[in-house]
Amino acid sequence: MTFAATANAIAYTGAEPFFVDVLPETGNMDPQALERALSSLASQDKKVAAVIPVDLLGKAADYTALEPIISAYGIPMLCDTAEAVGAYHASRPAGSFGQASVLSFNGNKIMTTSGGGMLLTDDEHFASKVRYLATQARQPVPWYEHTDVGYNYRMSNLLAALGRAQLARLDSMIERRRQFRDRYKAHFADVPGVRVFGAKDDEADNSWLTSILVDSSVAGWTSEDLRLWLVDSGIEARPLWKPMHLQPVFVTAQGEITGVAQHLFETGLTLPSGSVITDAERDRVFTALERFRLSHVARG
Ligand SMILES: *Cc1c(COP(=O)(O)O)cnc(C)c1O
Repeated sequence: MTFAATANAIAYTGAEPFFVDVLPETGNMDPQALERALSSLASQDKKVAAVIPVDLLGKAADYTALEPIISAYGIPMLCDTAEAVGAYHASRPAGSFGQASVLSFNGNKIMTTSGGGMLLTDDEHFASKVRYLATQARQPVPWYEHTDVGYNYRMSNLLAALGRAQLARLDSMIERRRQFRDRYKAHFADVPGVRVFGAKDDEADNSWLTSILVDSSVAGWTSEDLRLWLVDSGIEARPLWKPMHLQPVFVTAQGEITGVAQHLFETGLTLPSGSVITDAERDRVFTALERFRLSHVARG
């Protein structure tokens, strides 16, 4: 359950992704499914280069459960924290788990430099290797000397300056998104069949995106009904990430699949959540939701 970038990064290295299904409460990696996957891969003598948990929609994965499983197999853990800057797990910041984590500062993320991202690690040796590879692998001599194939993966100074200004505003941007989520929670509290996704444990969550899950057998309407209603009001809402094992490009990949990610995709809807959405625009969203409720929910 993630954006394609996580799986693409695996494919770039020539490795094969093996997908592990997620927990219904958070959409983050299911520790028991991971345990089953690692033991079955070990019994087939398959080498696992790394486990990559994703911190979905602003909530850190359950590292308390994942870390011991992964370290028992002696496998490195790399964390995709692209969506979770400012979030916490067990009082530790997201991005501080594993051998390394990556952040994204893409335009849709909570803080942005328009594009680019950051790698976080405590390992100085690893950090300097990454700096070296990200800047075309230049040897420290006066001429251009290369003993490795490098990459042009550095962030420009100008964008980094933008990022520092964004970082200073991170707390207030998170706070604004959290208020938006609180208003959604209040709105949907008495709507039957609707759950605000990942709403437990909110102070540890950066509230990047707020999504709802709709049980249509209780609600009498589907997440797609609401999405189309919002589109009619000129408001964009989208399904959750389409799971990677259902993507045509990764159709041959193996996985430990329980069906939870697919269920989240089929029943979830991500609602407008941005911190730059004005108060008047927010009111417009809630007016549309209220009209939907009157026409679909309050029939009895
Ligand atoms: C946005 C995102 C990425 C990719 O970040 P880019 O900066 O666009 O490369 C990776 N993983 C997840 C989970 C994301 O949401």
